[in-house]
Amino acid sequence: MKPENLPKISASAEFLQLATAIKAHLLYLQEMGMKSLPSSVLNSVQCPVFSSHSNEYAQHSTLNTQHSPREQALQAVRETLGDCRRCKLHTHRTQIVFGTGNPMADLVFVGEGPGEEEDRQGEPFVGKAGQLLNRMIQAMGLRREAVYIANIVKCRPPNNRNPEPDEIASCEPFLMEQLGVIRPAVICALGNFAAQTLLRTKVKISQLRGKFHDYQGIKVMPTFHPAYLLRNPQDKKLAWEDLQKVMAELKKTKQVKSVVSANSVVSVTDKTDTTD
Ligand code: URA
Repeated sequence: MKPENLPKISASAEFLQLATAIKAHLLYLQEMGMKSLPSSVLNSVQCPVFSSHSNEYAQHSTLNTQHSPREQALQAVRETLGDCRRCKLHTHRTQIVFGTGNPMADLVFVGEGPGEEEDRQGEPFVGKAGQLLNRMIQAMGLRREAVYIANIVKCRPPNNRNPEPDEIASCEPFLMEQLGVIRPAVICALGNFAAQTLLRTKVKISQLRGKFHDYQGIKVMPTFHPAYLLRNPQDKKLAWEDLQKVMAELKKTKQVKSVVSANSVVSVTDKTDTTD
């Protein structure tokens, strides 16, 4: 569309739109218990923390019909899973909830298992808890599409009961495969169940949260499940502290990666120089 054909929008309407967007963002931050804005958030608002693999992702974005190698690898995991009947959860499910998001994500959120709405829509965290998770992600200066979201089990346990050991044993290898393909810098384990399963421990989330742990060489930050936070809003402040630690770790990872890529540009230049 030529600029002269763009719908006319007055400066005051534009200002109002901008102010509304900023207000919405500040409300997210306030909901997370923030009283002032750290510079890390301001920077990330101005320049959202996209995945450091974003170039690879951009080359294979929706404008490009080709799928990136990681998308293909995730698709292969999905195909291996097939119309899974490996455990008894398949008898009650509407559909498998595989996981969703950016295959190049530096950050993966892992929840427990699909609830009613997730089972209906086939996507993790789309119910009320999912809406809070979206706000937490936005408060981090990220977009939901920039991260990856999955669960310990991919089928809804009846009446939202906890998944049982045989169900986890059947399903976890597929989550492990997904994480192996994505290779995020950080996994954020949402709630007791995800944290205890990934970390092979019975220690409570209140003890686990706030510190990085290890899952297959990937840093894990356990924090409260958004459904718990909806019932216990006073703990949102603690969850926000955990997410800030995740943001700091992601920032470090990005810095390391940019140094590595700058060095590789130098080494390519060096090679060119010597062959010339
Ligand atoms: N709770 C979870 O743990 N996972 C979902 O996908 C939705 C709610």
